[in-house]
Amino acid sequence: MAGFVFDFDEPSGGGRELLGGKGVGLAEMTLLGLPVPAGFTITTDACRAYLQGGDVPEGLEAEVEEHVRRLEERTGRRFGDHDDPLLVSVRSGAAISMPGMMDTILNLGLNDEAAEGLAAGTENARFAYDSYRRLIQMFGEVVDGIDPHRFEDALTELKQQRGARHDTDLGADDLRELVAAYKRIYPQFPQDAREQLMRSVRAVFDSWNTPRAQVYRHANDIPDDLGTAVNVVQMVFGNKGERSGTGVAFTRDPSTGEQGVYGEFLANAQGEDVVAGIRTPQPLETMHATLPEAYAQLLETMRKLEEHYRDMQDIEFTVEDDVLYMLQTRAAKRTAAAALKAAVDMVDEGLITRDEAVTRIDPAQLDQLLHPTIDPNARLEVAGKGLNASPGAASGGIVFDADTAVERAKDGPVILVRWETTPDDIHGMIAAQGILTVHGGMTSHAAVVARGMGKPCVAGCEDLSLGDGLARIGSHELHEGDVITIDGGTGRVFVGEVPLVAPQLNEDFETVLGWADDVRRLGVRSNADTPEDAARAREFGAQGIGLCRTEHMFFGAERLPVVQEMILADTEEGRRAALEKLLPFQQGDFEGIFEAMAGLPVTIRLLDPPLHEFLPAEDQATDEKMRARIRALHEQNPMLGMRGCRLGLVYPEIYEMQVRAIARAARSVGASAVVEIMHPLVGFAEELRRLRALTERVWAEEAPDAPHHVGTMVELPRACMQAGEIAEHADFFSFGTNDLTQMTLGLSRDDAEGKFLTRYLNDGVLERNPFEVLDQAGVGGLMRIAVEGGRAAKPELKLGICGEHGGEPSSVAFCHRLGLDYVSCSPFRVPLARLAAAQAALEEAGTVQYVAAGG
Ligand code: ADP
Ligand code: MG
Ligand code: MG
Repeated sequence: MAGFVFDFDEPSGGGRELLGGKGVGLAEMTLLGLPVPAGFTITTDACRAYLQGGDVPEGLEAEVEEHVRRLEERTGRRFGDHDDPLLVSVRSGAAISMPGMMDTILNLGLNDEAAEGLAAGTENARFAYDSYRRLIQMFGEVVDGIDPHRFEDALTELKQQRGARHDTDLGADDLRELVAAYKRIYPQFPQDAREQLMRSVRAVFDSWNTPRAQVYRHANDIPDDLGTAVNVVQMVFGNKGERSGTGVAFTRDPSTGEQGVYGEFLANAQGEDVVAGIRTPQPLETMHATLPEAYAQLLETMRKLEEHYRDMQDIEFTVEDDVLYMLQTRAAKRTAAAALKAAVDMVDEGLITRDEAVTRIDPAQLDQLLHPTIDPNARLEVAGKGLNASPGAASGGIVFDADTAVERAKDGPVILVRWETTPDDIHGMIAAQGILTVHGGMTSHAAVVARGMGKPCVAGCEDLSLGDGLARIGSHELHEGDVITIDGGTGRVFVGEVPLVAPQLNEDFETVLGWADDVRRLGVRSNADTPEDAARAREFGAQGIGLCRTEHMFFGAERLPVVQEMILADTEEGRRAALEKLLPFQQGDFEGIFEAMAGLPVTIRLLDPPLHEFLPAEDQATDEKMRARIRALHEQNPMLGMRGCRLGLVYPEIYEMQVRAIARAARSVGASAVVEIMHPLVGFAEELRRLRALTERVWAEEAPDAPHHVGTMVELPRACMQAGEIAEHADFFSFGTNDLTQMTLGLSRDDAEGKFLTRYLNDGVLERNPFEVLDQAGVGGLMRIAVEGGRAAKPELKLGICGEHGGEPSSVAFCHRLGLDYVSCSPFRVPLARLAAAQAALEEAGTVQYVAAGG
């Protein structure tokens, strides 16, 4: 019977979705013949059934019992035995890794008598009672919600009494006493092994729905209905003495991608000690001297794992008496820089193809590389130094707990400063710009989570001390809200704000994006309103400007008064006189942009916003005439009012001036100006027919020989429905999906975000913010109609998108499938769009499966 439970070496017919990431890794490592303790996986099906039905599904308990019996046979030990007990861990593991979000319990199967038995059998009473006290604490915490501090306080107290610095300084008798203390804190601890097991399984299922797990899922777009698998694994013991220990390792450096082993090891400890940062672990290489055999085996195992997965792995292992056991492997979370370097190296090593390298990079992660770093030339006083746990620099006011981080982040950037972080701090880490901890190593919770989020983190900063709402670092005493800067790339901490510089794009970045350019079909342009933005966009690889807004050109200090003069004029002559003065400014702006983009197309959108935006609020008007004009221009609903091409039709002199300025700029720059004039908010073919006539007339007066194109921004549902007719007057369409989303959904972004839209997202009415991720079914459906209609009328019609969606990976992929010619996005998102477009092309070709790492 295909059931809910599978041994690691038993074919389950399911993958990651069924067995969870941890379960699949354990099964695959077992199959590869690597040293994995025996065990079995209870599937996510069982978890989903449990969460829906409120109880473990029918037959699960019997099935678990059956697999426990098989485990007993394999190991030659009995679960619940008093002399030589089989002990197991119960470990959560969802399809998508959620580090530290859910629970694990070690040493199940111990009780008062079995602890005695284990002590006698191993002749190591210290080890037996150390294992037992860990079980009571973990079980109490996870299954019965006992406050872990109560256990920790008891431990600390005992250590003080005994003058012990580390847990490992406590002897067998001390730990026996500690067990007694723990049982006073938690008298309900069940002695029966099978009861321990089933209650743990339920607790792991329940941990799927803890608030912190939910927050993490929402922050990472992980569906709420996946559920977790549960892995039951024979215990191996790193806490048996100095020839035992536990560690974590990466097959390459997760910060830089450099080759070579990279990890941490803690002698005489169980797994959770490393992550929890109870003692500061040693660099992995120290194992070479202390445990040479296990170390050699570890290196060999890591090599095999990379060869098998053809990707960088993140592993957990334990050494028991110099024998290695593998407990986990997964694709390593890595910084964008590391992802790029590892991908390029793996292509060089012949491990993966270029196409695969392109699919290995998460486009959203590229952002990290495009963020500022500390100005290397700035002369700075370093207040303290810690580990360079996650690169990037950030400044902000310090906060000492996660709730305050969320609160204060509303008013400005904050840096979360903690002794160490735990999964309960996740909301604060999301809210903060950066994370600084006193304690913990490169694989501490703070470090791992920050790297995953692409946030700067300095961990293990021992120059820092915390207490009484105060942080002391170097000679500084800092209170909540005082500003510091951290540099996660070097581990430095500065007091105050520090000058940052624009990011430097490295060679790996260029290499991978070059490979992406080789395979993508979709063009990538940028939205840019100034020559500086245009130049930056070009540096990032933009192949043109998809949207150059002209309204900002009306706002400069010398210009606004002239614009207002134009708006206040009573006659057309008055308006023309004012526009005449604006023309040279506009012409200069366009020349700058054409020069920056020489040879590449520039789509210029004529004036779009309603005129009242150029006037002050009524109570700030300078005279009665202006007040009257402001009142006259007032609209109930400006979004749907006198704006876009309506403005150009009612006041043709405005668009005439703009076209004239563009034409003159094109003429002065010469053949390298590739001009596309775009009329906004067209809903009727007749609007565009007239505006095209206006455009062509002025153009012929100014630059009769210069090539140019005229098109429209498609941002009204009617324009989509009537695309064929509109296309007759257009050389190109550009989907303005910001407005198209507002118009299609009938919701105004300004009135929705932070208000009911936010509520919708929290309540799950909507899964994604439609202003960030294109609503493919609704807005996308209209786009499809427009593409078909437009192309049917005019096969050579050029099609693009210039809404913010043009820089969002899933929306870029949609545009690829829709057959658009290009996407246009903000300059910083250009690399991301290039990569996403390439991944969409590869996915369509079916040559490579999309496998962006880090999830
Ligand atoms: P997480 O997902 O939080 O890493 P794990 O289930 O991997 O949780 O377990 C927590 C720690 O306990 C890890 O360090 C792991 O290696 C260790 N561990 C889990 N199962 C065993 C086992 N059977 N024997 C020894 N150590 C274990
Ligand atoms: Mg783990
Ligand atoms: Mg618009």
